[in-house]
Amino acid sequence: MSTQQQDENGHIIMFPFMAQGHFTRFLALAKFISQRKPNTKITIVNTPLNVKRLQSTLLNSQASNNICLAELPFSSSDHGLPPNSESIDSLPPHLIPKLFFASETLQPSFENLINEIIRTENRVPDCIISDFFFGWVHDTAKRIGTFSFCFVSGAYGAAMYFSLWLHFPHRNDSGDLIEQFHVPEFPDTCRLHCSQLTPNLRAETNKQESTYAKFSRRQISLSLKSDGMLCNSVEEIEVVGLKVLRNLMENSKPVWTIGPLLPSYLLQGNKNDDSGPVVVSHFRKEKEFGIAPEICIEWLNQQEPCSVLYVSFGSQFTISAPKMMELALGLEKSGKFFIWVLRPPSGFDSKSEFKSEWLPEGFVERMNETKKGLLIKKWAPQLEILCHRSTGAFLSHSGWNSVLESLSQGVPMIAWPLFAEQNYNSKMIQEEMGVSVELTRGNEGELSSEDVKKVIQPVMDGTKGEEMRKKAMAIAEKIRAAMREDTDEAGSHQKGSSIKSVDDFLAMVTSKRVAADADEHAMPI
Ligand code: UDP
Repeated sequence: MSTQQQDENGHIIMFPFMAQGHFTRFLALAKFISQRKPNTKITIVNTPLNVKRLQSTLLNSQASNNICLAELPFSSSDHGLPPNSESIDSLPPHLIPKLFFASETLQPSFENLINEIIRTENRVPDCIISDFFFGWVHDTAKRIGTFSFCFVSGAYGAAMYFSLWLHFPHRNDSGDLIEQFHVPEFPDTCRLHCSQLTPNLRAETNKQESTYAKFSRRQISLSLKSDGMLCNSVEEIEVVGLKVLRNLMENSKPVWTIGPLLPSYLLQGNKNDDSGPVVVSHFRKEKEFGIAPEICIEWLNQQEPCSVLYVSFGSQFTISAPKMMELALGLEKSGKFFIWVLRPPSGFDSKSEFKSEWLPEGFVERMNETKKGLLIKKWAPQLEILCHRSTGAFLSHSGWNSVLESLSQGVPMIAWPLFAEQNYNSKMIQEEMGVSVELTRGNEGELSSEDVKKVIQPVMDGTKGEEMRKKAMAIAEKIRAAMREDTDEAGSHQKGSSIKSVDDFLAMVTSKRVAADADEHAMPI
C-alpha cells in the first residue's frame, strides 16, 4: 500500500462503555470524524445486545457507511447479572458495580478481535478510542503497537471525578468524613461539600478500599497513561477543568477539545434573532416521544420570549416522590409557564406508566385548564425545546449533554444534580460560569415548594436571571465559534477551536502511523 493510500484510509477502533449515554457520545464522535476525514474506517466494538442497539441507531441516523460494528462475546448471567443485562441503563443501581467488574473480563476477547482485524487487514489500526472505565485498553494498545486515547465528557467533571477517586480528599488521616475539603489538583479556593459526593464515594475510606474503588483507581490510572485525551467540550469555556485535566495526564499528553458534539442545526444562528432555529424538523428518532414535537413547538410558539422554564432530569434519572410533590407545587406557585418531562419517582418501576397520584391533587387538570404547564411523559424533544426562543431557563440534573445543549442556546440553568459527575458540573456552571443556581441536590434532605418558587422566580424574571442569560449567551457564542469553519474576507480559511482540534488529532494519528509504517522496526510511540 502506498503512503498516500495509507494516509487516506485510516482505521480507528472505538470502544464505548456499556451505557446509552456513552453510545450516543461515541457515535457522535464517529460521525464527526467521518465528516472531517471521510475515508477513515471506524469500528465500534461492544457486546452483542449493545451492538444490536447501535445497529438500529446507525440505521436511523444516516451515518457514514464507513462506520461499522464488531461484537465481543458476553453473557451477563456468567457474572451474576440477570440474563440479557449488558448496559447500565438495563440494571437496578445495586447491580451496576457487577457490570463494571464484568467489563474487565472483556480484555482477552477484545485483544482477539483486534488481532483478527490486524490479520484480515494486514495492518495495525491507527488507534483505539475508549472510555475511562476501559482503562485496560491502554495495555492492549501497547501490546499490539497502536495508540490509545481516552474520550471523556466535560473536562471539569472528568478531572474532579478522577481526582476524588484517586485521592479520597473527603477523609482525614483518621478516616473521618470532612464536611468541606479541597479537591487535589484544583485551585486552592476549590472546595467541595461532602453532600456533593455520590453515596458510594462518600462511603469510601482510606482504610478499607472497596472492590469498586480498586476497580475505579485501576481504570483511571491506566486511562491517565493513554496517549492523549479527547474531550466533548470547548477550549474557551472550560479553562479551569482543562488545566487540571492536562496536569493529571501523565507526561502532559495532549488533551483535545472536540465538542460540543451536537447536531449542526443547534449551532447555527441565534435563537433570539430571526436567523435562529425556531421550528426544526430533524427530531432525533432514537426514542419514542411522549408528545408529538410539533405540538410541543406549537405550545411554545404561543408563549412570550424567554418565559418558559423547561424541567427535565435526563434520560434515566428521577426524583423522589415527596420532592416531586414539592416541585409541582413550587412550579405552580411560581406562576411561570413550564414544560416538565415526567418519569415515575424513585422506588417505582421506571418503565411503568406515569400516575397522576404522584402529583398534587388536581394538578394535571389545573395545568390542562390554565395551559401554564405542558406535562410530557417519558421523552421530550429536548433540543427543539431548548432552541425555541420562548425557553428562558432549564431546571436540569446537570448531565453533561444537557449542560452543553442548554449553553449552546444561551439558556441559563437551575441545577438539581442527582448522581455521578452531575454535582461537579453543577458546581462549575454556577461558580466558574455564573450561568446557574443550584436548587437542591440528590433526593436526600428537605425541599419545600416555597424554596422552589424562590429559586425559579428571580431566574425567570429578575436582574439575576438577566445577568445569567447574558453570560449564557456569551458562552453560546464561544461554543458556536468553536464549531465554525469559513473563509474570511481576505480569503483565508478559518477554523473554530474544536474543528482545528479534531483535525489536529486526526493529523497526529495519521502522521504517527505513516512514520511507524515507514520504519517497520520502529516502535510507534
Ligand atoms: N433527552 C431528550 N429527551 C428527554 C430526556 C433526555 O432528548 O426527554 C436527551 C437530552 O437531549 C440529552 C440526553 O438525553 O442529549 C441526556 O443526556 P445527559 O448527559 O444530560 O444526561 P443523562 O441522561 O446521561 O443522565
